[in-house]
Amino acid sequence: MIRKHNFSAGPAAIPSEVLMRAQAELLDWNQKGLSIMEMSHRSKEFIAVAQKSEFDLRQLLNVPSNYKVLFLQGGATSQFGMIPLNLARADQATAYIETGMWSSKAIVEGKRYSQLEVIASAADSQYRSVPERSELKLGCDVAYLHYASNETVGGLCFDYVPQIGDVPVIADMSSDILSKEIDVSSFGMIYAGAQKNIGPAGLTVAIIREDLLGKAQDITPKMYNYKIHADAESMSNTPPTFAWYLSGLVFEWLLEQGGVAAIEQVNKRKAAKLYQAIDATGFYKNSIALNNRSIMNVPFNIHDAKLESIFLEQATAADLLNLKGHKAVGGMRASIYNAVAEESVDSLVSFMHDFERRHG
Ligand SMILES: *Cc1c(COP(=O)(O)O)cnc(C)c1O
Repeated sequence: MIRKHNFSAGPAAIPSEVLMRAQAELLDWNQKGLSIMEMSHRSKEFIAVAQKSEFDLRQLLNVPSNYKVLFLQGGATSQFGMIPLNLARADQATAYIETGMWSSKAIVEGKRYSQLEVIASAADSQYRSVPERSELKLGCDVAYLHYASNETVGGLCFDYVPQIGDVPVIADMSSDILSKEIDVSSFGMIYAGAQKNIGPAGLTVAIIREDLLGKAQDITPKMYNYKIHADAESMSNTPPTFAWYLSGLVFEWLLEQGGVAAIEQVNKRKAAKLYQAIDATGFYKNSIALNNRSIMNVPFNIHDAKLESIFLEQATAADLLNLKGHKAVGGMRASIYNAVAEESVDSLVSFMHDFERRHG
């Protein structure tokens, strides 16, 4: 068996150790004679798996007790609608920061259910840096402030938590949750689709402060109502049981690695190696401001754009997979989430040096 180097932006790499454990348990989970996938979500066995998964996630992120952790479906994209529906009135103002593709999509949905104002945009810097703290100003009272902490397509990342007074901050952390230490208490809510830095697609995690629950607009569908999910421990209807279980295995794996502080050090080292290879000569380039460069998604180009398709072809032949940039921007992108081993980054860096020698 060969596991190739997977730099996919999402669905993305999952630790081999986790996949092997799931494989070993697949047909007969815990001597029950059936797969975890085939059990009732209301069985005491599955409830124990679900609770352990939440417990471990709470431990990894140090989630305070006045926050609910929800295990939802519908992807981060559903959250774009759920957030205004649950946290604002239709006639109430909301504030958004625009930094790239994902925050823009959140804005399109947010406008449908609230009086949305884009209070700052990275467009002013051609998406090379996030808006400065000093630019963040509100014209009126708002229900919340929304931003994307890491723009998965552009590789643009906040190096601070944007806060204005005590306005609840809502962060789309789909591509950088669990990659570095955060202080959950600075947020009203954090959410993430699982398929980037948690586990398989099909699960969406939301961590929400309790006092924000119970204010949903009347039109909110039942399955879009955070309070319903919170009151039912995310089991109001059938949750994505297998994705929840597998994400739990990833949380255990992360704890074995030493938790978020330890993986953050590895992530920073991996990213530094890659950016160093990009910056070393003029052959490759990434034009994001140094302090806003993502340590999860690293987009880059080759000075001679004609070489990019050759690069991608040869990289794939060298077992370095899924390096093609998002279709909206082209070029290359290496997503180096928690589950992408440092050796994979080392292999990519040595391929980049070699390619440069041959084509520079
Ligand atoms: C991938 C992504 C999304 C969309 O996630 P889905 O689960 O496909 O809806 C939203 N925000 C960010 C930052 C992402 O990276």
